[in-house]
Amino acid sequence: MSAQSETPYPYDAPVSQALFDRACAVTPGGVNSPVRAFRAVGGTPRFMVSGKGAYLTDADGREYVDLVCSWGPMILGHSHPEVIAAVQEAVSHGTSFGTPGEGEVALAEEMVARIGPLEQVRLVSSGTEATMSAIRLARGFTRRTKVIKFAGCYHGHVDSLLAAAGSGVATFALPDTPGVTGAQAGDTIVLPYNDLEAVQEAFHRHPGEIACVITEASPGNMGVVPPGPGFNQGLKNACRENGALYISDEVMTGFRTSRAGWFGIDGVVPDLMTFGKVMGGGFPAAAFGGRADVMAHLAPAGPVYQAGTLSGNPVATAAGLAQLRLLDDAAYDKVDAVSAQIQGLVSEALNKEGVAHQVQTASNMFSVFFTNRPVRDYEDARGQESFRFTAFFHSLLAGGVYLPPSSFESWFVSTAHDERAIQKIADALPAAARAAAEATAE
Ligand SMILES: *Cc1c(COP(=O)(O)O)cnc(C)c1O
Repeated sequence: MSAQSETPYPYDAPVSQALFDRACAVTPGGVNSPVRAFRAVGGTPRFMVSGKGAYLTDADGREYVDLVCSWGPMILGHSHPEVIAAVQEAVSHGTSFGTPGEGEVALAEEMVARIGPLEQVRLVSSGTEATMSAIRLARGFTRRTKVIKFAGCYHGHVDSLLAAAGSGVATFALPDTPGVTGAQAGDTIVLPYNDLEAVQEAFHRHPGEIACVITEASPGNMGVVPPGPGFNQGLKNACRENGALYISDEVMTGFRTSRAGWFGIDGVVPDLMTFGKVMGGGFPAAAFGGRADVMAHLAPAGPVYQAGTLSGNPVATAAGLAQLRLLDDAAYDKVDAVSAQIQGLVSEALNKEGVAHQVQTASNMFSVFFTNRPVRDYEDARGQESFRFTAFFHSLLAGGVYLPPSSFESWFVSTAHDERAIQKIADALPAAARAAAEATAE
């Protein structure tokens, strides 16, 4: 029962379609994470069967240059031989013990060595767990209840963070989704991104009540919308002046935007940080950490409870550690260069067709907004001509280039994006730019 069978996009993926029909019978919407379902762009989600370097192969046997990289983790490309070898070695010793193990210590040491303010970390299994636990710890540490987040920032599907405000002023959030109670969302204050005045005002209105400000270190979940000059430092200062903690969510940017993530770029010292994606090397490993005096409040050292059966899993930590050890300066130079090259090709193709667009970047993360104005916050992002993205996306897909199936996502590249991959993108772009130019709103 494909919900998508009336889209104008031709199916040239019969095997994926058959798999999707099976999936829809046993899984809501046919997917285990919503954005995989192509709802924003229409058509049949491609079921992938293998990945090697910069390429994915789908169930119909078609090859794509991958610009999603599993939404960030695969920064060395797919099936990197040294990561695979580390996983095979780990698996040969057993897959889970429910006891401490050396691998999790080594991974934590590698993270702490890369990021100065990261004094201690606790490993978890997903970015959602990391942000949920960091918020709990911030509340436990400060003995306050309220949390400031920004519209358009995603911090996983944590109940209290699935909230967005309807207007540009400081306001108490209404839950964004059924299943989140007013009480859960009611302690969340949602503010417009890049608006320090709104932050000052919220602190002013709620003296002694705000436990923390959580922000994406550089947002990538409304498309790439980097912090304006001084924004993160301003958040940090406001937190310090008001006795709140500054939580930098580096689940996406961590170990991707530089050796030390976004902290390595803007140098603003957070009280707590969250990680996931790259640090797991393609496995479920994530973490939160920061100031040792704050982390000391976590069980069993302190009273704030947090736990996980598979936390610090030996296979996941082996994959993450192998990947981090391969991510030296040369690797980041390579990813940055690939990213710049693709950005240039995209702009060139769109300019040639006269398509208004903004390529916005945060180090090697980037995305393309179909608008003629810079995008500084979620309101701006929602003002883009998403119908052009839909046409652009499907043309590239037909040309063997796999983009994130939404105009509100970062594109991701890897060290494995070679000349052939870039040529394949260059070859597919002219038709995609034309499709974007010719697209019309419904
Ligand atoms: C992906 C992401 C999360 C959630 O991580 P999951 O592993 O999907 O739970 C949290 N914060 C940010 C900034 C992310 O990009």
